[in-house]
Amino acid sequence: MADPTRVTSHTGQSRIITTVDYDAPGKHSGVLRVPQSRNDSGWGTIGIPIGVISSGSGPTFLLTSGTHGDEWEGPIALMNLLRGLEPGQVQGRLIVVPALHMPAVQNGTRLSPIDGRDLNRCFPGDPRGSFAFILADYVTRFLLPLSDYNLDLHSGGRSMDFVVSTTSHLLDDRAQLEATLKLARVFGASYHVVIKEVDSSGTFMTAAEQMGVVAISSELGGINRVSIPGVAATERGVRNVLKHYGVIEGAVDAAPEPTEIMTVPDYDCYAFAPRAGLFQPFDALGAIVRRGAPAGVLHQIDGPERPAEVIPYGRDGILWCTRGEAQVREGDPVAVIVTPYPA
Ligand code: CA
Repeated sequence: MADPTRVTSHTGQSRIITTVDYDAPGKHSGVLRVPQSRNDSGWGTIGIPIGVISSGSGPTFLLTSGTHGDEWEGPIALMNLLRGLEPGQVQGRLIVVPALHMPAVQNGTRLSPIDGRDLNRCFPGDPRGSFAFILADYVTRFLLPLSDYNLDLHSGGRSMDFVVSTTSHLLDDRAQLEATLKLARVFGASYHVVIKEVDSSGTFMTAAEQMGVVAISSELGGINRVSIPGVAATERGVRNVLKHYGVIEGAVDAAPEPTEIMTVPDYDCYAFAPRAGLFQPFDALGAIVRRGAPAGVLHQIDGPERPAEVIPYGRDGILWCTRGEAQVREGDPVAVIVTPYPA
């Protein structure tokens, strides 16, 4: 259930103008036109491309990516999907937004070049807020209520790299948790990680969960490049989900191995850099690691004679996430471990 107290301003109206009709059968492409008043364009707007494919009766899937602007497997898979599907192949409705935070995607950055915000920390949004808040509000109050299922596709961005995985949060509602795990198993990534995040407040997935929409997110690669296995897993996973829930025809293309359900049960799973430096990792993604073993060492470029500082793992498990960029600041995670779920 949505918590109405979390919506800070309820005008009933969005400031976003939509050029697509969500209720019209057929395949429609258009934009979400977000007002963006500028010195050089007082009545300026920014268009966020959106595609809707609707036909017959069936569930509505909201498929989004580009919530962060440096994560590419989702946008590529969703653009390919949108181009490749016609209404005659669909029973139900697909609402597809491959580059939700369009200014960040065009800029190739996690954060917005307009208001500096991380869109995935701005939910449930605010129609009177800055660009990212207006956008989050539109998703929360206009797109999620149309939707039965949501896949918001992420990767690690510039700063992180991941084993190809889907993700969701620990949910108190048992039925919703089971429906979420079912969705993840059908998607069929190697891992599905039930995560307790450093900070999940304000995320798209939390907004979807609170609306009762069955939602998963993902980590499909990282380091601001395009993962070939990440794109393959995403394209297969999205089509598997649409097939399983009857939106498109065809048999689910089962992965060679069933999805392993994993979790990040506590903060011992995170290894943080104790200070700035050049991080040399010791293990590849997916390695089995032991508590106390070195995740890597931190070099000081301005003190090459000083011993490199060991950063240990805080838990036994599988190395799920590594640092994307070589240089770290104090407090940056350099490794995240997952363990089998339930912990
Ligand atoms: Ca992300």
